[in-house]
Amino acid sequence: MWELLKDFLCWEQRERVDFDYELKKAKSTNSDINLNLQQLNQRLVRRIEELENLYDELVRVNEIVDFLRACETVAEARGVIADLLQPFFPHTSGAILLIDRLSNLVETVASWGTSLNTISAFSRDRCWALRRGTVHEGKKIFPSLYCQHVQQTAELEATLCVPMIARGETVGLLYLSFQQEKDLTKKVKRLAKIVAKQVALAFIDLQLQENLQNQSCRDSLTGLYNRRYLKESSLREVKRAAREEKPIGVIMLDIDHFKHFNDFFGHEAGDAVLREIGILLKKMSRESDIACRYGGEEMTLILPNASKENTNLKAEQIRRAIKNLRIKYGEQLLSSITVSIGVACFPEDGESWNELLRAADRALYLAKNQGRDRVISSPTD
Ligand code: GH3
Ligand code: MG
Ligand code: MG
Repeated sequence: MWELLKDFLCWEQRERVDFDYELKKAKSTNSDINLNLQQLNQRLVRRIEELENLYDELVRVNEIVDFLRACETVAEARGVIADLLQPFFPHTSGAILLIDRLSNLVETVASWGTSLNTISAFSRDRCWALRRGTVHEGKKIFPSLYCQHVQQTAELEATLCVPMIARGETVGLLYLSFQQEKDLTKKVKRLAKIVAKQVALAFIDLQLQENLQNQSCRDSLTGLYNRRYLKESSLREVKRAAREEKPIGVIMLDIDHFKHFNDFFGHEAGDAVLREIGILLKKMSRESDIACRYGGEEMTLILPNASKENTNLKAEQIRRAIKNLRIKYGEQLLSSITVSIGVACFPEDGESWNELLRAADRALYLAKNQGRDRVISSPTD
């Protein structure tokens, strides 16, 4: 926000000097003061209009900032950002791209317009703006200066890449493409810079907030939700299911003979197995599923809206997928592991979370007793 004000004040200062100069000139040359005053008056009117436009921009940027601050997750912010930005940049197509910290790829998370003219994911060295840490303009008359992620077409006349930098960290890129070079005005550039900075700040704060939340509800070894989170969400999910008269599936799994495995391969190799199972369970879960490390080598999954039949199918897929995992620890290929699984469903196997959990636990106990490496579904008697 300060940038916008600073820009404006510099410009204001320059203009004031111009006015003084015009007035002095009029006096010293003894020319028609009335005419000069008329011209000055016209310029003043124009400036007031520009000032009003600037004020509008300031208010609108502020609205975006407020909106993004009200978002609770990065995903939520991604969902609204394109609709918020599009009105700022008429006659453009555009995108917000974020840098994925793991892959280091620049990836499109939101876009608008029909002629984006950029590939959607690329390494950061394909963008001049990200390489140099400053705004980069591409123009049809100098096609070799387009960034490498730009897809040149006959219609494309200009591009603008603005790195999104906040608190010293490059978060991503604001990208705009223009079918008419004349639309890439000073005003657009100024706005793009301010918007990029504000969006970067909002995203960095959201990422930080999410990381903190993750630390308090995730198990650090497997990346699955922890037991505390399971308790909170299970109560919420059971209430919701009762209200909406929908089923919930519960899968409880326990690694077979894990103590022997640890004794044979060592505790760290055991940890590697738990990590791999965590990755697999996350991969096999839908967004609404809640996969948790219940404790030790036991995992619990809540599947909202899943019938008994679907929960059993899912449990069987998980059992097979774990059995088929080939895990290496260092150079050593570890022997395959199996799990026993108990399944229970709301409302038929229990009307409260505790009843459900007990039913799943009883089924798991039977799976162990009947020889392990199997799925047993409640009711078990
Ligand atoms: P069963 O088939 O009856 O489940 O046999 P089990 O050996 O898996 O069962 P038991 O409950 O006797 O042993 C659980 C083992 O899980 C013992 C413990 O060392 C191991 N375990 C629990 N948490 C961790 C962990 O964080 N890392 C590793 N490596 N092992 C763990
Ligand atoms: Mg156990
Ligand atoms: Mg076990």
